[in-house]
Amino acid sequence: MIQLKKNNYKTFSNSLLSWYDLNRRILPWRAPPGEISNPYFVYLSEIMLQQTVVKTVIPYFLKFVRKWPDINALAKAKLHEINSYWAGLGYYSRAKNLHETAKIISNKYDGFFPTDKNSLIALPGIGEYTSSAIIAIAFDRKSNVIDGNVERVFSRFYAVKKPIEESKIFIKNIAEKHLPDQRHGDYAQALMDLGSLICIPKSPRCTICPLLAICDVGGSTRAKQYPIKLPKKEKEERYGLFFYLKNKDGAVLFKTNKSSGLLANMDMLPSIGWYEDSNRLKSSPKFNKKKHEFLGLKWKILDQNLVHIFTHFKLNCTVAIATINDENELLIDLDKSIYRFVQKKNMNDLALPSLTKKILNSLKKHESLNF
Ligand code: SF4
Repeated sequence: MIQLKKNNYKTFSNSLLSWYDLNRRILPWRAPPGEISNPYFVYLSEIMLQQTVVKTVIPYFLKFVRKWPDINALAKAKLHEINSYWAGLGYYSRAKNLHETAKIISNKYDGFFPTDKNSLIALPGIGEYTSSAIIAIAFDRKSNVIDGNVERVFSRFYAVKKPIEESKIFIKNIAEKHLPDQRHGDYAQALMDLGSLICIPKSPRCTICPLLAICDVGGSTRAKQYPIKLPKKEKEERYGLFFYLKNKDGAVLFKTNKSSGLLANMDMLPSIGWYEDSNRLKSSPKFNKKKHEFLGLKWKILDQNLVHIFTHFKLNCTVAIATINDENELLIDLDKSIYRFVQKKNMNDLALPSLTKKILNSLKKHESLNF
């Protein structure tokens, strides 16, 4: 049982807040010192920061707030437009939830964020972490905001021996005890900044850490061993065959995904599904292996394998290309609510996930495609 450092709770928060006053990151969603944060900015940034690093989020955040400066403006946007602004950030269900939540706040709460946890958690896409962050940062109320950075800081500070996957509740309880009685938003952001700038994953910068004097592993080579982690599982592999089809005008065929599931509502190159067994691609009833036929057209399969990493699996992509001409005619009527041909100059208006962008980029080197 770890001995809690009861006398150090105050030292911990005071040291952290003093350090924050001098070293806080300037971020576009943060209010200047002493000013109240805009709840919409806090909310939008926290949703974008889920699974995405700050550096990547900044240009997306700025683009979003220039286009939709407040929650009411976002509520009036078209989902497809939000998706196109979100394209590249990944985890596309976040964009859909953002839109749903904006509509609820605009209609049900007159454009004001609810200030209690239960009402916040009831909103689509807002969970324990995001609601806690909004309460602390946007409303400056006591709230235990725990993310991976904060877990790392506490697991090192207390040299927690159990793997992080098994010590989350323990760390949450410890963190709760450290919450100060004032400056709740600053404290939450100070912990985030400490985890991002000082108590970083590979080489913690203990010598300039405000907690060095009271940290269990501070300054020692042991620091980087924490948090202890369970051995990593190998990522599962999946295989997908994607179709790049040009019509006689040079426009390319895209398919809009359904409104649920991975890459919901995003524009993709058509594919015949992603399989765990590479042989299933060749035996798929949608793709005639012998004739290389799909949509009744003949295809050339490119001799290149492209890999895209998702959180839980690795997708091996193969690409087939075809051009519609007098010898290769599209005789099938495509469902216009799903499929459409898009000229290259208009592709920026599509909601293209990184996977599709990666495939399109890889095709640039095939000059015969005349990009
Ligand atoms: S002293 Fe080192 S290990 Fe401890 S909290 Fe600071 S940076 Fe992290």
